[in-house]
Amino acid sequence: MKAGEVVGLFLESVWRELNGEERDGLHVTELVELEICERKFWFRRHLDEPPDVRSLLRMWKGRKLHETAISVDHEMEVEHEGVKGRIDEVFIRYDENYTARAWLVDKKFVGFLPASERDVKRYYSHYILQLELYAYMYTVDRRTPVEGCVLLFVNTEEEPYFHVHAWKPNLRKAEKTFRELRTRAEEIDRAEQPPPRNPDYMPSQYPCTYCDYTSRCYIHPEFNSVTRSTAAGNSG
Ligand code: SF4
Repeated sequence: MKAGEVVGLFLESVWRELNGEERDGLHVTELVELEICERKFWFRRHLDEPPDVRSLLRMWKGRKLHETAISVDHEMEVEHEGVKGRIDEVFIRYDENYTARAWLVDKKFVGFLPASERDVKRYYSHYILQLELYAYMYTVDRRTPVEGCVLLFVNTEEEPYFHVHAWKPNLRKAEKTFRELRTRAEEIDRAEQPPPRNPDYMPSQYPCTYCDYTSRCYIHPEFNSVTRSTAAGNSG
C-alpha cells in the first residue's frame, strides 16, 4: 500500500466517526463559538463542509479523550430552551443535610498547559464559559444545583501533563449570558450574510488560527462585500 492511501483511509474513517454524530438544533459549543467570533458561528451554521486536516485531527483527539469515562454519569446530555449540550462527567455529592449537589467536569486537550488561575482566565475563558452554561442548564434541566465546575487540562507532550482548575459557578450570571447568546444566535442564524469581521482579528492570530473558514472569511468575495464597503466608508 502507498503512504497516501493509508493516510487517506485513516482520515476518511476519522471524518465518518466524527460526522456520524447527530448535530441538529443549537448546541452550547456553538454559543461559545459565537462569543469568540459571530462570523465563525454564521459560517459553521451555513456551510456544510469537512474541516481541514489539522482541525480534523484535533477534533478526533478531543473525541478520544471524551470517550474515556471517569464517572458513572459520563457524557450526560442536557437540553434547555432548545439548546443542547453534552457534559463530559457529572459527580453527585451530598451535603450535611443530605441534599444532592452536582460537580461538572470537562476534559480538554491543550497545546499550552496553563500554569495558574490567571493563565486559565486569560487563554481559556471560553472553556470557563462553556462549563458555566452547562452548570445553568444542568441545574434547571436536572433540578440539582451545581456546586462546582472543574476543567481538567491535558497536554500529552510535556510535563506536568495536567492542570486542574475548579470554581463555583455563578448561576445567575450564567442564566443571563445563556439568554443573551441564544437571542444573538437566533438573529445571526437568520441572516443571509455573515456578520462583518472583527477589525481587531488577524488571520495569523487567535482565534483565526483555529478557524476552518479563514480563506472564505478573508478572501472569498461573496463573504466580504459588507466588510469591504464598511472599510471603504471608514477610510474617509
Ligand atoms: S477567520 Fe477569524 S474572523 Fe473569520 S470567521 Fe474565522 S475566527 Fe472569525
